[in-house]
Amino acid sequence: MKLKGKVALITGASSGIGAATAVLLAREGVAVAAAARRADRLAQLGEQVAAEGGTLLPLELDVTDEESRSDALARTVDELGVPDIVVNNAGVMLLGPVLRADPADWRRMIETNVLGLMYLSQSAFRLMAERRSGDIVQVSSVAGRSAAAGSAAYNASKWAVNGFSEGLRQEALRYGVRVSVVEPGIVQTELPDHIPDDRTRARVQEAYTALTPLTAEDVAEAIVYAVSRPPHVAVGELLIRPAEQL
Ligand code: NDP
Repeated sequence: MKLKGKVALITGASSGIGAATAVLLAREGVAVAAAARRADRLAQLGEQVAAEGGTLLPLELDVTDEESRSDALARTVDELGVPDIVVNNAGVMLLGPVLRADPADWRRMIETNVLGLMYLSQSAFRLMAERRSGDIVQVSSVAGRSAAAGSAAYNASKWAVNGFSEGLRQEALRYGVRVSVVEPGIVQTELPDHIPDDRTRARVQEAYTALTPLTAEDVAEAIVYAVSRPPHVAVGELLIRPAEQL
């Protein structure tokens, strides 16, 4: 229970990796602010964590909205305390070939995956720098390391996450703040269900069933590993794939 008594804010906590991370951190004794747009899902998660004796504050948050972001952070600080851990996990994967893509989907991916993460990283860093400690974890992807046809705009968003996070890591270390990037491969979650392009969605769903994918809990364990290292250790980057994934 190295993390007991700490406070975490997790974005995109209503399903998948974010929800699994909320549950695992709460089991470690962390008071968790679980943020996303679907309040009903967060309420269910809150009940699950409370039944295990943990603390979870459900927070409605749209990471693309400035007022929503500052409200969520303010409520976290007021009700749980300044976060020791911020997990920027909220994301959308609106895949499709460039030729057929709707640029509105590109804008949504950049606003959610990149700008939402950057703004919250800045706010978290300001609070953590004052206390000279903290962990910022960015959920990127293997798609931030290797690009593929049909994934260009999503690749661009995750590449941006990695570039921003490496610059932030170098700046933050002077303030005792660690920045970790977690890069999952194929994880069984709701993420591909929102792919707007029918052919791409079918192809991706097939790829998810062609091997044994990671579970959201596998990735949550990697996140918990990163934030529970002793202060002199920084896990900069964690690439975690299903054993069968190329
Ligand atoms: P899910 O679809 O289960 O989770 C995505 C989460 O992001 C949901 O909780 C959703 O909540 C939230 N979200 C989306 N848009 C917003 C927004 N505007 N404001 C706040 N929250 C938002 O998928 P995953 O758990 O798989 O995805 C989590 C992260 O993992 C993403 O960043 C994704 O890119 C990354 N990833 C996933 C992989 C996979 O194979 N599944 C592989 C590599 C990386 P709500 O709709 O309630 O707002």
